[in-house]
Amino acid sequence: MSGGFVFSEKPITIESGNGTTVVDDRGTEYLDLGASYACVPLGHGHPAVQSAVRDQLDRITYVQASYPNPARTALYERLAEAGPGDADNVWLCNSGTEANEAALKFARSATNSTKIVATMQAFHGRTMGALATTWKDKYKKHYEPLIDGVEFVPYDDADAMAEAVDPDTAAVIVEPVQGEGGINPASAAYLQAVREVTADNDAAMIVDEVQTGLGRTGSLWAIEQAEVVPDVLTTAKGLGNGFPIGATLCRDWIADDYGNHASTFSGGPVISAAAGATVDTIVADGIPDHAATMGERLRSGLRDRLGDRVREVRGEGLMVGIEVKRNANRILKELAIEHQVLALPAGRTVVRLLPPLTIDESEIDQAIDALDSAIGGSS
Ligand SMILES: *Cc1c(COP(=O)(O)O)cnc(C)c1O
Repeated sequence: MSGGFVFSEKPITIESGNGTTVVDDRGTEYLDLGASYACVPLGHGHPAVQSAVRDQLDRITYVQASYPNPARTALYERLAEAGPGDADNVWLCNSGTEANEAALKFARSATNSTKIVATMQAFHGRTMGALATTWKDKYKKHYEPLIDGVEFVPYDDADAMAEAVDPDTAAVIVEPVQGEGGINPASAAYLQAVREVTADNDAAMIVDEVQTGLGRTGSLWAIEQAEVVPDVLTTAKGLGNGFPIGATLCRDWIADDYGNHASTFSGGPVISAAAGATVDTIVADGIPDHAATMGERLRSGLRDRLGDRVREVRGEGLMVGIEVKRNANRILKELAIEHQVLALPAGRTVVRLLPPLTIDESEIDQAIDALDSAIGGSS
């Protein structure tokens, strides 16, 4: 039997899922604290998303983006309304890296400048443009040269950012909380400083909310907590509750001069129906507030129980990192095999939790018990 060659497979075959639970081919149930990289914020098989998709399947599966379609138009409107401030022009694509790729292209076109400032430990995707703004060398080294003109500065360091941004700068791209880089939240003051220095230099502030967006950090967008309106916001991962879709939300000055960008599958009706139902449900059910409350319970519970057996518990809302004192992958394996709990790494020493935002108190407590046991002693 041959398999896909680019993913290393895990020894658990997942056959079905419901809410925060997934079930393997032997009928074993697992508590899903990873939501497959934050891709199912409403949990597996959410009825609103399932029925929106079924209804759309019966109407039309696909129609090119130049013909208006009600599902796509409704999603444009929902995202325009949901976007921070006046970042209400919507470009749809199929993934996070494409959303960032578009953001970088739009910023270069609208500013007529080329330089892009990114941050150390950042992750913005794996296509050639977005990859150039991703920090880790192991993702880049086999594919160079990537695009030119990217400069990296230390994350959460306002002085370094002020020094790097100049009148030749097209954009700064930044995550409000770094995800793959280890769950590193930036201060509100830092994000405000990025806003100021980009505005002063007529550069675009691109906020990558591919992982932090849609309620994950306790507000619909993480950037809202800093009271900053970026020029461009990108989102993907959880946007379709499991269906592949990304979006780039732009202010007028970016959208008015975006150049010439397009994608064949931009906002297909079935995907748009899934995303429309997802955004609707997240807003209507008050999911961001629930994520804030559950995240607080999770983080404070972990801090109480783990104490100095771990280096740090950090994050915002239900985007949580536990910096451990031994190899995170061994803990993840024990969590899965001994406790039927699935979680994620973020680098070698961070256990990352991105559960469905619908997780309840008893599941949070179950997660804390399992992590307490799997992390074990102090070394
Ligand atoms: C996952 C991720 C991406 C890339 O998204 P893909 O859908 O895998 O292309 C970009 N930025 C951030 C912050 C991410 O977490």
